Amino acid sequence: MSTETKTIFTKIIERELPAEFLHEDEFCIVIKDIHPQASVHLLVIPRKPIARLVDANEHDHELLGHLMLVVGNIAKEMGVGDAFRLVINNGEGAGQTVPHLHFHILAEHSETHKFSETNL
Ligand code: AMP
Repeated sequence: MSTETKTIFTKIIERELPAEFLHEDEFCIVIKDIHPQASVHLLVIPRKPIARLVDANEHDHELLGHLMLVVGNIAKEMGVGDAFRLVINNGEGAGQTVPHLHFHILAEHSETHKFSETNL
């Protein structure tokens, strides 16, 4: 892939841009979001540069399942396994700014920062 067509996340995966890897394996990496929207805000990013969730196909079954298992494991490791939100922004219209599939894990450690029951 040429440098121009690489997403920020591919550049992070290929160590062209700095990031702290909380987890990495054959299929994905997990990093902290640079602009956290919660006290715990992680990004689970497949190495495969699928642009949006809707661009995944039948060959991505195993990958997508793997990503979900990584979400659960890293949430437990970060101490938020009992309460976190998982968000995928699919497409610019939904707020997706990086065209490389990623899952946001959002959680609060503090008892004073509980999720509202009404907001999605
Ligand atoms: P989205 O808006 O769903 O595409 O999410 C992209 C996310 O990537 C945003 O929450 C950004 O804060 C985050 N982000 C952008 N650049 C970096 C970076 N270099 N390291 C970590 N997170 C980043």
